[in-house]
Amino acid sequence: MRDIGPVLITGCSSGVGQAAARAFRAAGFETFATARNPDALLELQAIGCRLLPLDVTDEPARRAAVEAVEAEFGAVGVLVNNAGYAQYGPLEEITLDDLRRQFETNVFGALRLAQLVLPAMRRVGRGRIVNVSSVAGRVSVLGGGPYHASKFALEALTDALRPEVEPFGVKVVNVLPGPIATRFESTLLKSIAEPGADSPYAPFRKHLARRMHEFLRAGSFGVMSAEDVAKIVLKAGATPRPRTRYHVGFVARFGPWGRALVPDRLVDAATRWHMSSKWN
Ligand code: NAP
Repeated sequence: MRDIGPVLITGCSSGVGQAAARAFRAAGFETFATARNPDALLELQAIGCRLLPLDVTDEPARRAAVEAVEAEFGAVGVLVNNAGYAQYGPLEEITLDDLRRQFETNVFGALRLAQLVLPAMRRVGRGRIVNVSSVAGRVSVLGGGPYHASKFALEALTDALRPEVEPFGVKVVNVLPGPIATRFESTLLKSIAEPGADSPYAPFRKHLARRMHEFLRAGSFGVMSAEDVAKIVLKAGATPRPRTRYHVGFVARFGPWGRALVPDRLVDAATRWHMSSKWN
């Protein structure tokens, strides 16, 4: 087995992060599983993962997690930026605080952790940063503006960071899955908050919630398991010559092509039709 150094994964309490920790550990790698609440990681500890508390929006916690790995191993071998959630809802009514929270987790948390692991990676002349991005970072649609904006930002940062750090032996790889049946759906549905009584978007929210449930539920077209995606995260982290991007599943592979070929007005009309054109 190739030595890739210790693996540090964010957001391992459920879903892709948890499955990825299992996959790296099963492949024999030293795996640091992290979560806001480490009590949620005891099953991963039982299979040999090391545990660290980490809220990716908390600077002291970010520093402490990276320092703990570096104190023992010199450098993080593979950082997997997986922690994330989806803020959905009408853009006219989203608060800037909710939008900032979305970026603090999905964008700034990931970039800051990359900044923290890079100096030691450069020193040892190797390392890898795997970002769990999304097809939502290539195609933006009605109702998901905050989440799409965060994943588009992650994609943009990656295209700039990848060639910046490659001369130091560090590779940056994005994994872009389509829909996955995880706790992501319930967090997303909660983010579509109840509007005030006078909101013109009350029916919009109802249709959006119904549509997203249909899109993400297990068994719907193209919906994968966390384990399906974790296999690709492992590949992105461990294969000697990774691609720059891995599109995972049918929706992620063909969605961006379809979107590029179809005119904006047609996409607008189709997505409105999907959710009932007048939100009623
Ligand atoms: P999930 O089951 O809800 O897992 C999300 C993980 O992120 C949880 O462990 C959650 O921890 C953690 N998290 C959220 N905010 C955090 C913070 N501030 N600090 C640390 N951890 C935090 O959803 P998932 O589907 O596995 O999502 C994993 C990644 O895949 C996300 O980046 C998501 O955007 C991406 N993705 C998901 C889908 C999908 O359809 N599910 C599709 C494409 C991409 P807590 O337990 O503390 O909340």
